[in-house]
Amino acid sequence: MHELAVTQSILEISLRAARERGATKIRAIRLSIGPFCGVIPECVQTYLDVLAKGTPAEGARIEAKLLPLRVRCRDCGKESEISRTHIACPACGSLRLERLSGRECTVESLEVD
Ligand SMILES: [Zn+2]
Repeated sequence: MHELAVTQSILEISLRAARERGATKIRAIRLSIGPFCGVIPECVQTYLDVLAKGTPAEGARIEAKLLPLRVRCRDCGKESEISRTHIACPACGSLRLERLSGRECTVESLEVD
């Protein structure tokens, strides 16, 4: 159900942005998705297909860009981007990391007519 609420807000943001630009049709919605936001792009697409019926976003394609995980090391203070499978500071190997990003899910840009 998480994706349904997310898709609703993505759709609202996109429709508003399209209206402001005087666009009549949204072809694609580009999203930035953090590794911990828990949103699966395929689910967003499925919900969008239903929710966008009869709006300028009908038939729009979801293009998701997965963001890297940014952390700050509590031991050496270095900020870095790490992968989800190897969660340790690249500089000193510490596991005491502070998460700087990861939960965002934002509309990056639109492709409109
Ligand atoms: Zn470190």
